[in-house]
Amino acid sequence: MGQAKQRRAAMAAGRPWAPHMPVAVPSATGTNREVRELERLNTLCKVAEEKAREALQLARAATDAATQLDRLHALHVGATGLMEAEVEEAYDRAPEGPGLRDKVACRKGCSFCCHMAVEVMPIEAILVWRRASQRADLVANVHANAHTSANVEAGERWKMRQPCPMLGADGACQVYEDRPGACRAFVSVDAKACERALMSAGTAEHDTKVPIITFPRKIDSAINVGVRRAMAAENLQSCNVELTAALHLLANDPTAAARWLAGETVFTPYP
Ligand code: SF4
Ligand code: SF4
Repeated sequence: MGQAKQRRAAMAAGRPWAPHMPVAVPSATGTNREVRELERLNTLCKVAEEKAREALQLARAATDAATQLDRLHALHVGATGLMEAEVEEAYDRAPEGPGLRDKVACRKGCSFCCHMAVEVMPIEAILVWRRASQRADLVANVHANAHTSANVEAGERWKMRQPCPMLGADGACQVYEDRPGACRAFVSVDAKACERALMSAGTAEHDTKVPIITFPRKIDSAINVGVRRAMAAENLQSCNVELTAALHLLANDPTAAARWLAGETVFTPYP
């Protein structure tokens, strides 16, 4: 059974759902390097789970909303710090050599990738909203995007060319310090390919070939699974959610974050 089916079955039975590592056990033909990389990812997942569980317990023990959010923020800072440190080390170990860093095309103001559905953890959506809710323009963006807040399938979102509500007029992310792991992990070596993918979406010539560096996504995925396992262990809704849809929900329901931390099912799972 795939992970989406497992999650739906668990939800239907009223059980929390702890995702499994998406990384398969290395095959007999895997090289020693592949085996070592998988072992690192599995270790990373376990470390993320342990640290997240402690942080979630601390957040739940807080008696006021501001402290709860501060402690969730500390969890997010820890998880992203873990991810970024691991990504840096992975660049150093990459078979392409450390010069791979110089091939990264991502720059401030380049935002073709900020026009698709973003799969995030509930904690990430809550923290993006905490920052965004301080700015009237971002709150307005969230409400203006309401018609795309239904869980639009990722490919469909590209066709709409609807920018993320956190994207500024200058093409920069307005919640950069708190941006989700999925945004941090999408790293392309060809901005023109990103542009082609966005501009050709919905046409017969849709060109989806974007050359990305894959290890940041694997590392993000390992940490995502670890944190979500911790959420499930704490009986919190642990599914991934779509960022725009979750922001819309948080904007319309000021109790949503506290109810999620109290163990209620608040968000619509994605996909
Ligand atoms: S992923 Fe592509 S569109 Fe996004 S910042 Fe990098 S180069 Fe630009
Ligand atoms: S949160 Fe920021 S980086 Fe992520 S899609 Fe939105 S604007 Fe882009």
